[in-house]
Amino acid sequence: EAKARGNGDWHRYTDGLEARGAERARVTAELRRALDAGELRLHYQPVVGLPDGDLLGVEALVRWQHPERGLLGPADFIPYAEGSGLIVPLGRWVLREACRQAALWLRAHGDRAPRTVSVNVSARQLHEPGLAAEIADALRDHGLPAHRLVVEITESTAVEGEAAWATVARIRELGVRVSLDDFGTGQSTLTMLAHCQVDQIKLDRSFAPVPGPDTIATAVAQVARALGIETVAEGVETPAQAQRLHALGFARAQGFHFAHPMPAADIDAALDDPAVLAATA
Ligand code: C2E
Ligand code: MG
Ligand code: MG
Ligand code: MG
Repeated sequence: EAKARGNGDWHRYTDGLEARGAERARVTAELRRALDAGELRLHYQPVVGLPDGDLLGVEALVRWQHPERGLLGPADFIPYAEGSGLIVPLGRWVLREACRQAALWLRAHGDRAPRTVSVNVSARQLHEPGLAAEIADALRDHGLPAHRLVVEITESTAVEGEAAWATVARIRELGVRVSLDDFGTGQSTLTMLAHCQVDQIKLDRSFAPVPGPDTIATAVAQVARALGIETVAEGVETPAQAQRLHALGFARAQGFHFAHPMPAADIDAALDDPAVLAATA
């Protein structure tokens, strides 16, 4: 009896695997098509100064305008892109589109344009030896000064080893800034800071202060200050959090309290009239 049940479990297990495998193949094929069909979009979330909330930069966040399922967020398709290698062409598109848009803002708004555009790069992309050259091409083709681009990497890059770090170093040599995203959630946060040069760290939103002790946020602010690294606090949802982070020494923040990710046209509207930005929070 136990054996029969075990067997049934095994069938359910393998059916589940097959279903997941089929689902993965389906989404991957669809995503490949979507990339060619131009169904991907970038939304931009403001990075603001504390305490004033003035727009300093934006982070590009990819979306998929799916013909049947509507607007999908990265959680719905980035894992499939990473698993299949599609993240490489997808990431190339994100990079070029963000540079194109940032250069457009610069021409249209001059001094009022976002000073930086941040782009998320997967560990898988850092394995590509040509990534730094691709970034240089994107900057040149769109006429965007290197210091206006920020490349966000996560701590998973640390376990990817020497080759990935050599790529990071080449990217910084271009004059592009590198940011450690979701800081504090990785396995080797301090090791990373000891071994690599980055320009910015983004305190993960899980450390945004809640009432009570906020030891991690305090410690990160102190470490960053000691190392001369710029900080951004992610996922700031309340005025109290913004106030507290400012008091801890965070000069930059990002979060729903200030603004949600939005299409490029909404950023244009906010640049023309800052009151628009306040209304989107
Ligand atoms: P991330 O880079 O840490 O981006 C921040 C995420 O937090 C975004 O989710 C943003 O919408 C969300 N967020 C911003 N403010 C708040 C807040 O106040 N509260 C809460 N709860 N969430 C907030 P999104 O757009 O769904 O992106 C999720 C992740 O997907 C990103 O995390 C990033 O790791 C990845 N991703 C997004 N775009 C790309 C891309 O072009 N390439 C790659 N490789 N990954 C991307
Ligand atoms: Mg990011
Ligand atoms: Mg983040
Ligand atoms: Mg995060």
